[in-house]
Amino acid sequence: SLSTKLDYAIKSLKGEGKITEINVATTVKEIRRALVDADVNYKVAKSVTDKIKDEALGQDVLIAVKPGQLMVKIVADELTNLMGGTKVDINLTGEPAVVLVAGLQGSGKTTFSGKLGYLLKKQNRNVLLVACDIYRPAAIDQLKVLGEQAGVEVYAEPENRNAVEIARNAIAYAKEQRKKVVIVDTAGRLAIDEQMMREIAEVKKAIQPTETLFVVDSMTGQDAVNTAKAFNERLNFDGVVLTKLDGDSRGGAALSIRTVVEKPIKYIGTGEKLDAIDVFHPDRMAQRILGMGDVISLVERAQQNFDEEEARRLQKKIRKNQFDFNDFLSQLEQIKKMGSLKDLVGMIPGVGKMVKDMDISDDAFKPIEAIIRSMTPYERANPVVLNGSRRRRIADGSGTSIQEVNNLLKQFEEMRKMMKAMNNMGGKGGMPVPNA
Ligand code: GDP
Ligand code: MG
Repeated sequence: SLSTKLDYAIKSLKGEGKITEINVATTVKEIRRALVDADVNYKVAKSVTDKIKDEALGQDVLIAVKPGQLMVKIVADELTNLMGGTKVDINLTGEPAVVLVAGLQGSGKTTFSGKLGYLLKKQNRNVLLVACDIYRPAAIDQLKVLGEQAGVEVYAEPENRNAVEIARNAIAYAKEQRKKVVIVDTAGRLAIDEQMMREIAEVKKAIQPTETLFVVDSMTGQDAVNTAKAFNERLNFDGVVLTKLDGDSRGGAALSIRTVVEKPIKYIGTGEKLDAIDVFHPDRMAQRILGMGDVISLVERAQQNFDEEEARRLQKKIRKNQFDFNDFLSQLEQIKKMGSLKDLVGMIPGVGKMVKDMDISDDAFKPIEAIIRSMTPYERANPVVLNGSRRRRIADGSGTSIQEVNNLLKQFEEMRKMMKAMNNMGGKGGMPVPNA
């Protein structure tokens, strides 16, 4: 895989051995080969590795204390830049906002439409899903099933053979019903073809979407990039959705698409279920591709200690009794950068002194992290919804037991109570506590 190859490429720089300019050149060449093998477009691979080399020499990798680690950091940063640097949100302005979903057949459009509907509904937006695949009656049923699971209304006209008309009628209906977001799922074909392109372009022209998303199967490698190019030329889309990243995808598509079509990746699909959707974060994807999160953190630990702004944000949430599992997880991330788990707990304002003499081993938090990561973002933010079946799923997903999940939830609740008590004592800062 790409990560093992990159790992191998960088290994030559690890350890205590002396690094020479030749070593860097060799490593960079290996990185380039690994990228090309992972379906990254050759030009893209060349330009990114040239940048990595310049960076490495510019930052004096040769005389750094841990040249291998600095190199990993440079590679991760460059891969992040390659994928656009920072995340780009979809545009949901408009009354209603209209999201048009396009792509080849089987790329995951209908599944993504359902997932996005579900995600936005959880953010309390009034969503309408629109079935515009007029060629396959099964596609309408598929969207209806997804809509039902997501609790989102689906607009369909099974008898109507005109996608443009359906889309127009749906928008009119959405306005009438005061929907905030309309997601239009369209028909695709197995290969790029003129009729499909014309139809989707006409739909776009008719409904003037605020956001046109191009959905592509990440398993299709270099083809994904070519398809993206063809759709972009016709549709001038606003963002890309990369699906099936849970599979055996080599990740090359994610690395090339941004550069080739100059459009940001906005979401990724990581499974068939409704909640298997994530906002695309270039830095996280880079770490995932490198498969070396830990090494990167180590490097960052040397460079920065602890994020002041994040600390302030957390303090505020604690004061409002809003500390949730997302915050807990972000604390875990912080600690990975810092070094020891004890420091993590100590970072929670007001808790430091209590854990000073406790024996906390770093491994102890691994199952906890696994459990939290097996929760959906919604569950992390709303632990109260964690009923028996959700707990079962989380235990299975994290390779732990129901009992461990229950324990964590109990401890977490206790921690929240403690935070609340501290708030009520009106201690440090003395901020007013909102009425609970
Ligand atoms: P469409 O033809 O573009 O509408 O594609 P569908 O939404 O019908 O998806 C095609 C197949 O891919 C279905 O079996 C989906 O369950 C599956 N699928 C879609 N997205 C993902 C994903 O992110 N991961 C996995 N594993 N399967 C997916
Ligand atoms: Mg479909």
